[in-house]
Amino acid sequence: MLTSSQIINMLNQAKVRPSVHRLAVLEYVANKQTHPTADEVFSAITSDFPSVSKTTVYNSLHTLVESGVLRELEIESGATRYDLALQLPHSHFRCTRCGHIYDMALPEGLDRMVSPGFRVDTTDLFFAGLCTECIALSEDNQSAS
Ligand SMILES: [Zn+2]
Ligand SMILES: [Zn+2]
Repeated sequence: MLTSSQIINMLNQAKVRPSVHRLAVLEYVANKQTHPTADEVFSAITSDFPSVSKTTVYNSLHTLVESGVLRELEIESGATRYDLALQLPHSHFRCTRCGHIYDMALPEGLDRMVSPGFRVDTTDLFFAGLCTECIALSEDNQSAS
């Protein structure tokens, strides 16, 4: 959980002016840990800022990605999700039943699998399947029937 002053520090370090909307957007993405889509960020922000426009939220997300504070994840096609960029490299697991995105470890040295002469800038690794909760739920259903 990041405090407001940690969030402001992050923006200052990235040389992004900490407007109220950027703060709200970054605070939501950083502390929710759900890897939200732009639409999810927008609906969450409107509860605190009813007058905020979709464009403002989208622009804030864009600025935060451009400045390296957030990064975009393309886990399923057509839905860009957002994650803090300034954290240890990790992979993602998408539960195909409940749709949750979970952070998972990323083995070190994965970029050694890239052919010689190529330069790796980012590594994205995604898993898909059932999370522990959904497996437990389906086992409950099986024993009940
Ligand atoms: Zn699940
Ligand atoms: Zn993540």
